Amino acid sequence: MNYMHVVKAWGRILTGRAPSMSIEITRECPLHCPGCYAYEEGHLGGGMTLRQLADHKGNDLVQAVLQLVDRERPLHVSIVGGDPLVRLRELDILLPQLNQRGIFVQVVTSAFRPVPASWATLPNFNLVVSIDGLQKEHDERRKPATYERILKNIAGHHVVIHCTITSQMMKSPDYLEEFFRFWSPRPEIKKVWMSMFTPQRGTNPPECPSVEERARAIEDLFRLREIYPKLDMARGAIREFARPPQSPEECIFARTTQTLSADLKTKITPCQFGGDPDCSRCGCVASMGLAAIANHKLAGFVTIRPIFTTSARIGGIVSSFRATPAPRAGQAAERPAAEFLPQSGASGEF
Ligand code: SF4
Ligand code: SF4
Repeated sequence: MNYMHVVKAWGRILTGRAPSMSIEITRECPLHCPGCYAYEEGHLGGGMTLRQLADHKGNDLVQAVLQLVDRERPLHVSIVGGDPLVRLRELDILLPQLNQRGIFVQVVTSAFRPVPASWATLPNFNLVVSIDGLQKEHDERRKPATYERILKNIAGHHVVIHCTITSQMMKSPDYLEEFFRFWSPRPEIKKVWMSMFTPQRGTNPPECPSVEERARAIEDLFRLREIYPKLDMARGAIREFARPPQSPEECIFARTTQTLSADLKTKITPCQFGGDPDCSRCGCVASMGLAAIANHKLAGFVTIRPIFTTSARIGGIVSSFRATPAPRAGQAAERPAAEFLPQSGASGEF
């Protein structure tokens, strides 16, 4: 994040526009990962599920996405799914065009098929690959996107690895360190982001870390960031895992990111998880990263959070005067996020 990124994002918020957008570009995915939130019944808010939504393909998809970003003017677009590589031909056309518009783009994928070589040279672009723990567990949960296949498919690229910490991982004391021992030395890996599994309210799936496991994961991350510099998480962001937002209204990420599903119309609220997520057990790396920024003390005594709240309020007033209202930063129910954010994305994991 640099000064210009902050100024641009703030400008969007002041005018009632969301700086960031997340798009579920397809309803399809060849994987069936346990714990995937994208295909849960309540993900779209009841009624339809993602697989039942009418999605776009081919030139229709390319044009529809370009019209959407030209209207909403986000600074950052995160493309998730389903798995975005299902629409590889369309993305091959879309990504350079989004880049030309000055938008920072992120594709979050399981890398189940080879990633085009040309993507390695795109500026302002992140390829984020989701990994579900060590090889044994990952290969079982994510077949056919096995470790072996992922390594072949990302050869020649420089990717971000994203892993969601689950309760199962925390049963073994050295699990996270082993994970870093495997991925960190590889030249194809530029950064590693870690989230924690986020449940829906009132549920307790096996993936959800207990309070004690969560505390141990936080300790591990503090220690591992000193040993493995590719763990791209500031101490402040890791600290936020211990005090997640208590509601979407408190979540800067939810209030600055608009998520649209595969018909490019259905809004997913209050955040990318959809349904009724349990903020008090949230483990989203993007939410923690933004909370750390919001809670940072300027000149040692005042935090950025009240400045954000006031700016979002002004943005709400400004957008109400526009003929075609844009999504309002500051409204949890109509979200959008920022390009400089450690974004989550894809599918079932961020
Ligand atoms: S990302 Fe924000 S809104 Fe979503 S569950 Fe986490 S804290 Fe709640
Ligand atoms: S987690 Fe991602 S890769 Fe797995 S089923 Fe869900 S959308 Fe597909």
